[in-house]
Amino acid sequence: MGEHVDVNHFTVRTLTVQRTGTMASFVRGLAEALKAIKAFCSSAGNNFTRFNYLGEWHSHPLFSVQPSHQDHATMLELVTDRRVGANFIVLLIFRLTGEALEGSAHTYLPDGSIYPSELDFEEKQ
Ligand SMILES: [Zn+2]
Repeated sequence: MGEHVDVNHFTVRTLTVQRTGTMASFVRGLAEALKAIKAFCSSAGNNFTRFNYLGEWHSHPLFSVQPSHQDHATMLELVTDRRVGANFIVLLIFRLTGEALEGSAHTYLPDGSIYPSELDFEEKQ
């Protein structure tokens, strides 16, 4: 879940963690995720244009942080699903290499386009 802080610039405010691995468990996790999204929006005063669902994240512990074909397919399925009703969805992928956190960001639009996006890391305040 994120905050819209500037033009095309969002800050991740809350992450939820699910035990996933397969598409089936991903779908089962959706109900839980929806609950977390509603709780986040409610705690932010239901200011939906500023605070909202931003997208999905997962880790690639053993390989590149670039999205797999399956990752692209899953995100495109989500962003083009009218029941989701998203204007865009972001996918973040992380990997720990030694002490360093490496990551990638991609933005998916309902027209099926995919944009590699910038990921800034902030010091915890
Ligand atoms: Zn992946």
